[in-house]
Amino acid sequence: MTTDANSPLRTLPGIDELLRDAAAGVLIEAYGRSLVATVAREAVAASRAALAAGEAREADAAGLLDAIAARLAALMQPTLVPVLNLTGTVLHTNLGRAPLPEEAISAMTAVASGASNLEFDLARGRRGDRDSLVEDWICRLTGAEAATVVNNNAAAVLLVLNTLARRREVPVSRGELVEIGGAFRVPDVMARAGAKLVEVGTTNRTHRADFAQAIGPRTAALMKVHTSNYVIEGFTAAVAERELAALAHAHDLPFVVDLGSGTLVDLSAWGLPREPTVAEALAAGADLVTFSGDKLLGGPQCGIVAGRAELVRKVRKNPLKRALRVDKLTLAALGAVLRLYADPASLATRLPTLRLLSRSQADIQAQAARLRAPLAVALGTGYAVEVVACTSQIGSGALPIESLPSAGLAVRRPGAGGRAPERLAARFRALPLPVVGRVADGALVFDLRCLDNEAGFTDQLALLGSAETTA
Ligand SMILES: *Cc1c(COP(=O)(O)O)cnc(C)c1O
Repeated sequence: MTTDANSPLRTLPGIDELLRDAAAGVLIEAYGRSLVATVAREAVAASRAALAAGEAREADAAGLLDAIAARLAALMQPTLVPVLNLTGTVLHTNLGRAPLPEEAISAMTAVASGASNLEFDLARGRRGDRDSLVEDWICRLTGAEAATVVNNNAAAVLLVLNTLARRREVPVSRGELVEIGGAFRVPDVMARAGAKLVEVGTTNRTHRADFAQAIGPRTAALMKVHTSNYVIEGFTAAVAERELAALAHAHDLPFVVDLGSGTLVDLSAWGLPREPTVAEALAAGADLVTFSGDKLLGGPQCGIVAGRAELVRKVRKNPLKRALRVDKLTLAALGAVLRLYADPASLATRLPTLRLLSRSQADIQAQAARLRAPLAVALGTGYAVEVVACTSQIGSGALPIESLPSAGLAVRRPGAGGRAPERLAARFRALPLPVVGRVADGALVFDLRCLDNEAGFTDQLALLGSAETTA
């Protein structure tokens, strides 16, 4: 590179020169020479570009070192961080779905740092099966003969269809060809599994005869998909599980149910809307049921296949199972969560998902009343904060039309522009413990149903002023 004697580029320090600086020495001590050198090269390149563009007249070595220190600190910050979910959606897919109970966290911690019997039969001293760590409890809680666990429910559906129906046909009601958020579409998953979807019935009405007509020599199974995230109302007809199971069995075909949410208990016991349980689907004649671990079950992300032993054995032997299997941390957490179900009486206090879902509106309202003044004080004049009644949703497609009476805080800025709630929402998201609310009717609303960590919230309020300058 040729640089004339008067060029501002001549004022740029070399990398070696920068790294010999005492301030750089401190950074090297903290982050290691290689990362500091990389970031220093990036900073010098940025400075060279600024000088070449005429944005600065000379390089500033001290300024460069400050920029390098700030960049290093930012790079070393974790990118996956806790947030406060005040959106009102309890099982929020984008916010990580089910919060795990202490028991699950301890179980994960216990096996995280060393060797474990993940696939080792301690009694016999030989290779074991990772599914056996949780299979017994899944069977006890659902009535299934056998079970296997994979990465998520989408994987469970893919694996089941690929195992039972590759190059063969699966009739599914047109009313159940659902898309679950995040690009899980039943027809697409079916195609990727290598199975041919045979659409039967109409969007609103499907009868037993529609299924009966669709069954032919290439049929591999009958399938029912729980329409998790929408309802068909009005002039409707669907074939009951028991009837579909009988039809499938009369033709020697397995009957598969994708339940999605997969509750293990009747939620109406806690005043919540009813959702079909895994045990009910199996009792109605399903040969395999697939469901998520991190929706209403309240555990870690995984997908569970439960049902007849002979079919589960086939599913487990599919080479795809190896690609979709779960790790030791997931199995540790799942095992601990399943054991909480042993005592339904204590479930609502020990399982965070159920605790949050079953919180009473009065309890949430009292919390909102406690937090109203601290929030108003932190925001200062110009903002109006009020306690409001609102409705939470279960989320993750479960019980889409049912909403749970809740309470929260609505923040308005009278006289400010239409974008004021979004700007305020951005300030709360920029906090060290980001607070995620929702904007509705010209207000930023915090639904407090999921606010377990009240002290975490009030601590953030003290930092709101400093967040304002960056928002
Ligand atoms: C949520 C859901 C899925 C996908 O489950 P993930 O665990 O998110 O992969 C599949 N089918 C139904 C019916 C669902 O509700």
